[in-house]
Amino acid sequence: MPIRQLPHELAGQIAAGEVVERPVSVVKELVENSIDAGASRISVEIRGGGIELIRVTDDGAGIPPEEVVLAFQRHATSKLDYPGLLDAIPTLGFRGEALPSIAAVSRMTMTTRQPQSDAGYVAAMDWGGLTREGAEGCPPGTSVQVADLFGNLPARRKFLRSPTAEGGRVGDLVSRYALAYPEISLNLKIGERTTLSTPGDGRQANAMVAVYGAEAAANLLEVSGEDPESRYRVEGFAGNPSLHRANRTYMSFFVNRRWIQSRMLTFALEEAFHGLLPEKRYPLAALNLVLPYEDVDVNSHPGKREVRFRQDGKVYSALQRGVRAALVAHSPIRPALIATTGRGPSMGDAQGAGGFFRSPFDGGTIPGPTPGGDWGSASERGLVQPVGYGPAGAALTPQQALPALRVVGQVRLTYIVAESPEGMYLVDQHAAHERVLFDRIVREASLRESVSQPLLAPAHVELTVGQLSTLEEQRQFLADYGFELEDFGGTAYLVRAVPAVLTTKDPGKGLVDVLDMVAFEGLLKEREDVLAASLACHSAIRAGQSMTEPEMRALLEQLETTDNPHTCPHGRPTLIHFSAYHMEREFGRR
Ligand code: ADP
Ligand code: MG
Repeated sequence: MPIRQLPHELAGQIAAGEVVERPVSVVKELVENSIDAGASRISVEIRGGGIELIRVTDDGAGIPPEEVVLAFQRHATSKLDYPGLLDAIPTLGFRGEALPSIAAVSRMTMTTRQPQSDAGYVAAMDWGGLTREGAEGCPPGTSVQVADLFGNLPARRKFLRSPTAEGGRVGDLVSRYALAYPEISLNLKIGERTTLSTPGDGRQANAMVAVYGAEAAANLLEVSGEDPESRYRVEGFAGNPSLHRANRTYMSFFVNRRWIQSRMLTFALEEAFHGLLPEKRYPLAALNLVLPYEDVDVNSHPGKREVRFRQDGKVYSALQRGVRAALVAHSPIRPALIATTGRGPSMGDAQGAGGFFRSPFDGGTIPGPTPGGDWGSASERGLVQPVGYGPAGAALTPQQALPALRVVGQVRLTYIVAESPEGMYLVDQHAAHERVLFDRIVREASLRESVSQPLLAPAHVELTVGQLSTLEEQRQFLADYGFELEDFGGTAYLVRAVPAVLTTKDPGKGLVDVLDMVAFEGLLKEREDVLAASLACHSAIRAGQSMTEPEMRALLEQLETTDNPHTCPHGRPTLIHFSAYHMEREFGRR
């Protein structure tokens, strides 16, 4: 075959393959364009996982009418105006490839107006060919609609996953941008449902609440520091070590606010948490590295998802040290009453002993010397205990079984005070009940005797896309644990029976809550445990509920019979032990 120039259309499709792999790549490019345009609000809507429709609307700078069609030309960009700029790129886009690439594989419409101009403009293309252009009334900013993605390339469509899965990727991506751009109000609608909405008030903590929920956001440490050596800055948030997760999807890294994937940074973060997290558990974090533009090459990956650093080592240590400093400074510590000293067992030991974190106070601690452990003033030292560090020496002997406990009372409607000859115990009522229920759920399921509670009238429940995909993944476990569910078309389900442990009055809400928890925990491997833990968590008594003495007694008795009375299924402690020895010592009786 003689050498020939590829026809324009074919060349476009080939180039598009680099940039546009799946719906989420389209959303990424469009959101990046909106950010580059200085938008303060960006809304993303998808239908059919983004295959049917993607619409990204912003209130940014817009495009002058005479440039709209030009913007769809390959290598047309307003962001690189002199060659040297390629070495130090301040914008997210720079190649001028996204719009033509997306246009080549979809039916695309762009409507845009500059805020200072009265008239807007529209341009529409089908599979890369212009079908319409002209003046059009529209609000200031830009709205891009992409329909029927890969409609002209059926082979590529076959590589896409289900709309639910593709939509999930879009949700993940938009969440990452929400974390990096708290000053932008980001809104995501999947089908008819708004799945994410950030306030855009500039506070990253609030963006974290929108993305990860209030509970996680309440356990964040601020990271902010400049590495003295490289002068690279690290800023953002890291979860405190109690917030560990079972996979790495809760780590987001940004370089000059560009979301990137990097094994090196993942390692650096894990290194910073070394010794603070249980085995096979990972931190939650959203961290931005600020470095001179010329120290990073963003032009090394077609999707711009990876970057190259001029000096890997410096980047690694800036991130690792920055996070470590925050962990040390911000108290990965749990206040308690008793001084315990010395470093404890490795997490491996603690886990082997039957839980993620063992309370530092179990095991009848005997104070030893403090190896370099300067935790502050004497009184302060008596008040704090680093999470994940247990007592030293003989104190390490795990004391797994709980002694028989006598209930003394309830404090703050949250904790049960109890005593045994070995001293005093403060029991977290929710965590303890979670442990009891979790053991029961898992035991009954393994014996195939889960008790199911049929409902007199089936409950009708509408699920979100995320909940639907969790339900599909968990279908077997849900049934094993006693849920009887019937597909009711669309996103609706009928709940016909629920696990007997689920005491909620509203079974539909119970199901939704459990699905959300499972998704939130996001555990990939230990699916069974996640569902059981979520079910236990949902059904357990909450903090803030008053308990009668017989109830408290029953709970403690049940806790005593569990295999891991010291931790809840999430790995948090269920109780803190104040040994008789220490009480006497603190009061100067010894
Ligand atoms: P790049 O972002 O690499 O410049 P694109 O193909 O993504 O290339 O976009 C081409 C040009 O179209 C951009 O340089 C910008 O001038 C303009 N543009 C695209 N999207 C928007 C938007 N949402 N708001 C304003 N201008 C936009
Ligand atoms: Mg772009």
